[in-house]
Parts: sequence; C-alpha cells; structure tokens
Amino acid sequence: MSVYAIFQGVGYPLDIVVCSALGADMYDCVYPTRTARFGTALIPEGVLKLKHTAMADDVRPIDPTCNCMVCKNYTRAYIHCLVTKDAMGSQLLSYHNLYYMMKLGRDLHTSIIQGCFPEFVCGFLQKMFPKGDVPEWVCNAMEVAGIDISSCCAPFSSS
Ligand SMILES: [Zn+2]
Repeated sequence: MSVYAIFQGVGYPLDIVVCSALGADMYDCVYPTRTARFGTALIPEGVLKLKHTAMADDVRPIDPTCNCMVCKNYTRAYIHCLVTKDAMGSQLLSYHNLYYMMKLGRDLHTSIIQGCFPEFVCGFLQKMFPKGDVPEWVCNAMEVAGIDISSCCAPFSSS
C-alpha cells in the first residue's frame, strides 16, 4: 500500500525541497504563476525582480542555466520592458517559472531514485544561500530528516 502526502499551497522552491526531505510527495500551488504576475522570476539563487530598474539594461536571459523557451529567446531587459507595460511579460515569466518548478521536481525525483538526495539538497542550498546563511528552520528540518547539510551551512551566530 502506498501513502502519499499532498501539500496544498506549498509552495516556494525551498519549501518543496524541505517538505520533500520530510516525506511530502505532491504539491499544488499558485506561487509560480502568481509571482510571475508581479514580475518575479524563480531562479536557482532565489528570485529575480524583473520590474527593477536594474533589469532595463540587462541583456542576459532570466536564468543562464535554464533551457526554457523564454530564457533561450528573451533578455531580462526585454521582459522588464514588457512587465512594466502589459500582460505579455507575466505570461513569459509564468512559462519560465513553471518550467523551473517542473525541472526542480524532476531533478529532486531523480536524486531520490539515484540515492543522492542529500547531495541534491546541499547543491540546492549552496546556490540559494552562497554565504551559508541557510535559515535555521531549514537546518532544523534537515536534522529531523536525517540529512547532513553542515557542509553548506554556516554556524549560527548567537546574536
Ligand atoms: Zn527559463
């Protein structure tokens, strides 16, 4: 018999990685498309605010490591121009964000099947928190899940 844990409303990429470590199997959330409507793209380092004026002259793709149609064809500057003017920008961002979430799910699943989920978690956390400032709740959850993330986690200061 199989038992699935389904999390409605989860969520952010970090939440999905943490909840998967704790045993959740399925997710359902508006976040990727809702945040796209506000001009925000999901990237391995966290989020990218395309409405920010710094994006106006940035000719890189949203995420240089992403293979989606949007990242292959459009610059941050072009999408900045769209999201500050009409709805087409949020459609492109939704496409990228859903692609990002599907790849995250696929990579996460593959790492479990291949027996390297702890390494996947560390790689994910190192990209999102390059300074090692992984939130304490994430460290606590990983300890409960039995996943050692000490290599990508800076020790907490007592202040
Ligand atoms: Zn993309």
